[in-house]
Amino acid sequence: MHFGARLACISCGQHYGSDEIIYFCRRCGDLLEVRLEGLDGADSDKLRREWSGRKFTLWRYRELIPLGQNSIVSLNEGGTPLYRVDRLARWVGVKRLYVKFEGANPTGSFKDRGMSVGVSKAVELGKKAVICASTGNTSSSMSAYAAAAGLKAIVLVPSGKIAIGKLFQTILYGAYTIALREGFDKALDTVLTLHDSKDIYILNSVNAWRIEGQKTLAFELFEQMNHEEEYVVSIPVGNCGNIAAAWKGYTELVNLGILDKPPRLFGIQAEGASPFADMIIHGRNTLEPLKQPSTIASAIRIGKPVNWKKALRAVRESEGFAAKVSDNAIVEAQRAIAALEGIGVEPASAASIAGVRKLVNEGKLDKDAVAVCVATGTALKDPNPELVQGLPLIEVDLQKENIVNIIRRVIG
Ligand SMILES: *Cc1c(COP(=O)(O)O)cnc(C)c1O
Ligand SMILES: [Zn+2]
Repeated sequence: MHFGARLACISCGQHYGSDEIIYFCRRCGDLLEVRLEGLDGADSDKLRREWSGRKFTLWRYRELIPLGQNSIVSLNEGGTPLYRVDRLARWVGVKRLYVKFEGANPTGSFKDRGMSVGVSKAVELGKKAVICASTGNTSSSMSAYAAAAGLKAIVLVPSGKIAIGKLFQTILYGAYTIALREGFDKALDTVLTLHDSKDIYILNSVNAWRIEGQKTLAFELFEQMNHEEEYVVSIPVGNCGNIAAAWKGYTELVNLGILDKPPRLFGIQAEGASPFADMIIHGRNTLEPLKQPSTIASAIRIGKPVNWKKALRAVRESEGFAAKVSDNAIVEAQRAIAALEGIGVEPASAASIAGVRKLVNEGKLDKDAVAVCVATGTALKDPNPELVQGLPLIEVDLQKENIVNIIRRVIG
């Protein structure tokens, strides 16, 4: 089964060919998206049968990812586990809770979904190099996939504002790494000035092909959740790409006639970097950028989210909502999911859990809801030295202390 694809402007509807190298509409300057043709007439039963016969990875859904088969660059991304977490559900205050653990992707975050497709597209277009601005996970992922494809990778990161694990990965995979004092938003502006370069392909989430990879999150959740049961999805929001991608995935399932009622999507931001959440909470239709975003959740420390229009549509059309959570609440949620369930996530990911907890507390989400939190990245990305210096590390002197007694006391 094969679907034709075009690029289309999300504002004025102008169409472009799927092999045009273009990031913004030439007529109105707005974002583009990939549109698949003929979904509503497709034999969706046949499609689902074919999916179920394949390995559980992103490329299981290859019919809905309109790329030539010869250019595919894959490290076995996608196919991440969905955990049912009952102890965490009680802590959060909902009837049932699931965690979609995107930290299980090859470089430890959901960015690998988008990069597998984005770097494949770079290969298909005959590019020599790929570039991105990044708060860390995009650069880790792009560098790995560029290496897997034999392409050069160039990365702009905010100087001193990127988690050590992510910087380590980016450099290890061999990317040429530039640290910019002016922060992420300026780094992205700089990268976008290269939009008409022949050799370099831009792989920030303004690139519509990345969203094509990331939308597979919705296909997997659809297969993993019992779709008889209604659920909501909570997603941490930075540049607004992932929540937009999830909604695109669900919309395609609806257009295929596979799904009747897609879930409500909740976008969660950190209090110090919440332009998107503020827009939703106050019912505004335009985003007011933030000059100096600040939060310990560095992956979502973004003041001017480029995909906000797509994300606004995702939240409104799905009848979802948004929340902003404090850094304290984020750290608390990070500890809770790790200590109660054995799942290690980075701070930005924990925001999705803190967000559901807050929405329930404020009565904006029903206690009887079934919720899925998207844990976007793994804990090892962003080790927290304060935590190590803090609590349950007990240093003892063998001569004076009786270790067996200490252990007895701990067990209680
Ligand atoms: C990129 C990222 C986000 C934010 O996703 P956007 O698409 O920028 O909204 C959240 N969590 C982690 C771990 C990320 O790497
Ligand atoms: Zn346009």
